[in-house]
Amino acid sequence: MNVLLIQIDGKLPNLALMRIAAHHRERGDRVELRHGNDFGGLFDEPFEHVYASTIFESSRPLAYRVLATYPDAVVGGTGWDLVRRLEDIGVTTGNLDYSIYPEYRRSIGFAMRGCRLQCPFCVVPTKEGRARAESTIAEIWRGDPWPREVVLLDNDFFGNPQWCVRLTEMRDGRFKVCFTQGINARILTSEQAEGIASVDYRDSEMSKRRLYTAWDNSRDEARFFAGLELLCKNGVRPRHLLVYMLIGFAPGETHADRDYRRRQLREFGALPYPMPFRRTRELVGFQRWVVGAYDKRVPWEYWRRAEYEPRRLRLWQEEMTGVL
Ligand code: SF4
Repeated sequence: MNVLLIQIDGKLPNLALMRIAAHHRERGDRVELRHGNDFGGLFDEPFEHVYASTIFESSRPLAYRVLATYPDAVVGGTGWDLVRRLEDIGVTTGNLDYSIYPEYRRSIGFAMRGCRLQCPFCVVPTKEGRARAESTIAEIWRGDPWPREVVLLDNDFFGNPQWCVRLTEMRDGRFKVCFTQGINARILTSEQAEGIASVDYRDSEMSKRRLYTAWDNSRDEARFFAGLELLCKNGVRPRHLLVYMLIGFAPGETHADRDYRRRQLREFGALPYPMPFRRTRELVGFQRWVVGAYDKRVPWEYWRRAEYEPRRLRLWQEEMTGVL
């Protein structure tokens, strides 16, 4: 049988699609993966099974287009359905078929599932439930000859009762590890800070030292920075810290609120990374101002007047060079 897998969004390999691929290959089926909106070919042979996965709710229009093209397609993923599991559609294998991502050389998986907290904007507690251990590093790693590079999808690494053992496995096995979903700095202990500082934490390309975390609410300032201080006391450099900032969620949030968090993070030496909850022009403009590091040299007022577009910064440039 011909099976079509569609990864609607997301840059990392999609574990659900990898399991579906393994399930069908074990049955001798032919499996093909396509990305984004490139899912319907004029000269396609018919597909007996079509699956599509979407991580972000904002990708739903594309999921509807998949259904318009393949009305019997099974659509799933966090952006579509928080309840249905692969087992519900008959996929019981835990095997991952990496061959649908032939260029990808790292290993990817979950050392734990769930989260200890219940942030009001987050789907993880509903989707994954309480925090618990899932796999060891040895189970996630594909083994030789694949590089000792592991991308963890854990949403609350230190919620894993076995976190200390996992860190020992990373150190002893000399793994580079990307904690791609971030660690929770607000509730970090000294022991945990010391532990994570001792492993080779990396960005998702494994090229830079990087730890990801988040500061979503100004009211968490004291405990959030206490966590950052603990990390730095144990050897993490401030510039290793990329801090996601949820913006546009809190009722009544103002530009001054957002800008306060941005300035505090810049002063600390960390990298702020705003994440708009709603994609308004101003919020997306704020994100671009900070992620592009324009905030280091262009005042917000000029950025706003330039309609958040670097190519419209002429007015500011002329003022800076004394033309006006
Ligand atoms: S700590 Fe992170 S994963 Fe847990 S509920 Fe909050 S946002 Fe979600």
